[in-house]
Amino acid sequence: MATTQQDINGNTINHPTAAGVIIQGGKFCCGLIRLNGAAVCNARITNKRHNISSHLNKEHDPNSAHQQKNAVNLHRCSRCHRMCNSYNIYLNHIREKHRFSGRSDRVWTRWRRQPQGSLVQF
Ligand SMILES: [Zn+2]
Ligand SMILES: [Zn+2]
Repeated sequence: MATTQQDINGNTINHPTAAGVIIQGGKFCCGLIRLNGAAVCNARITNKRHNISSHLNKEHDPNSAHQQKNAVNLHRCSRCHRMCNSYNIYLNHIREKHRFSGRSDRVWTRWRRQPQGSLVQF
């Protein structure tokens, strides 16, 4: 399988499947639609396979950890019962309101294993 491809202007994109163009200065400009469907992404990324892959994973894969942490998922804070719409909102909440400063990966594990509407402890 090819590791690179050419954009519409004949410039080399250092990724086999990314959609977009190389812009002035040599960066890759992402031409995918954002996951929320609102607009073309237009992120400017260093034209290296690793950089482009990590962008596609983070911003365009609905199953990536980054997207899952922002996904709508209603849980309540176990301490004050505030409803939080996503893990990232919850994490900000417990850090700001309850001065949580521990490791967030354990909180993430608890958050994702709970059925909707659970009280999540930290
Ligand atoms: Zn993009
Ligand atoms: Zn709370």
